[in-house]
Amino acid sequence: MVYDVQPTAPVRSYLLSEVIIEDVKREKRPTLAEIASSTGDGSVYHIGYSDIIKRFTCDCPDWQYRRLATGENCKHIKAYIARI
Ligand SMILES: [Zn+2]
Repeated sequence: MVYDVQPTAPVRSYLLSEVIIEDVKREKRPTLAEIASSTGDGSVYHIGYSDIIKRFTCDCPDWQYRRLATGENCKHIKAYIARI
């Protein structure tokens, strides 16, 4: 059996079930920081902390639709962590 484990593959095996992802999206989280979008379009994203997955969270599309499932931090969370 040969496994394709290329780290750059766009779709990785998801670490979290869809049920947990929905719970995290509904979870009420206090905002820890507001990070302005680097695209300069005026968007502001909110960093929080999830008690369900014990990770920082962000409400940007990149985090919600990809990194929540893959277990990675988006650039906003990385910027927040670098500051604290
Ligand atoms: Zn983000």
